[in-house]
Amino acid sequence: MTVHNVVLIPGDGIGPEVSAAVLRVLDAAGVPIEWHEHHAGVAALERGESVLPESTLAAVREHGVALKGPCTTPVAGGFTSVNVQLRKKLDLYAAVRPIRSMPGVTTRFTGVDLVVLRENTEGLYSGIENEITEGVVTSLKVATEKACRRMATWAFRYARQRGRKRVTVFHKANIMKLTDGMFLRLAREARETGGFDDIQHDEVIIDAACMRLVRDPSSFDVLLCENLYGDIISDLCAGFVGGLGVVPGANYGDRYAVFEAVHGSAPDIAGRGVANPLAFLMSAVMMLNHLAEIRSDPPSREAASRIRDAYDRSLQEGLRTRDLGGELSTEAFADAIIERL
Ligand code: NAD
Repeated sequence: MTVHNVVLIPGDGIGPEVSAAVLRVLDAAGVPIEWHEHHAGVAALERGESVLPESTLAAVREHGVALKGPCTTPVAGGFTSVNVQLRKKLDLYAAVRPIRSMPGVTTRFTGVDLVVLRENTEGLYSGIENEITEGVVTSLKVATEKACRRMATWAFRYARQRGRKRVTVFHKANIMKLTDGMFLRLAREARETGGFDDIQHDEVIIDAACMRLVRDPSSFDVLLCENLYGDIISDLCAGFVGGLGVVPGANYGDRYAVFEAVHGSAPDIAGRGVANPLAFLMSAVMMLNHLAEIRSDPPSREAASRIRDAYDRSLQEGLRTRDLGGELSTEAFADAIIERL
């Protein structure tokens, strides 16, 4: 049996709680993983380390795969986002956030099944902000041909591999003619030069796209977004299927992959044992499928599918955490999943 070396970054806020619950589920599923625990964010600062320790980055570079909890970023001041730094330093340029209706979780919409793809390394997240003069500040939106092209190619390849039919590019190129204009142009080119004629492709201005999304999410399949749009649209789409407690995510580069839920460190509920561990568990399931793929390891895929069946059954039986209208604590929900493995 292949033993996988995976870096675990528990993160801040609810991160350690959901990590502990998820590790218990993976352990009960008999997944052979050797965890290498490292820290980032406030958790690293509290241990006297830097906010993104070199040892954490080195561990991900060594083992190639990480499961990461959310890291807190101070608002309007303080250190720059650890999450953004990590994605840039490891060149994890493609974020994937699958948004699917969950069995037994009733929301306004049924049958939602779309994927948000987010360019992870540039745009307004370049962190280049300046005070030009007193009372006047700027924030620079950066777009490079290299990043736009590789993201678009990645998106079409992803769509084909996953049997998806259409990639819709969200943009505001009517206003940001150069940056978003380039994002659009390179997506068209990537489809053409990459021979992705089997994947349909269209473009929607983001404000109109939001209106269409909330009226009928089923009219979309794969959404290709630059960094900021992808961030916002991910949370918006989470609302279709029950909220941030049920939306997993993965950040891929050409060499490394880091799996993390879309949600943040949720300071409002941290330490109370009520956070939903499902989004983090679903991210771990994505990680197992990735390990199965890159290391030709069918048992990881089997374990992923058993865990998925177990949480689907728990939800169907009405066993849920509070964010989904249930009463279970983080640990009790993990126990329910483990009993159904
Ligand atoms: P958040 O996602 O942490 O929380 C938003 C709301 O959703 C809160 O009411 C929270 O209680 C709820 N929620 C989130 N996850 C939940 C879960 N698993 N179960 C139940 N309820 C859940 O967003 P925020 O409050 O805007 O951000 C808090 C901190 O997290 C900030 O410092 C932000 O920078 C950081 N953040 C980190 C990441 C990341 O590490 N990838 C992502 C987003 C936000």
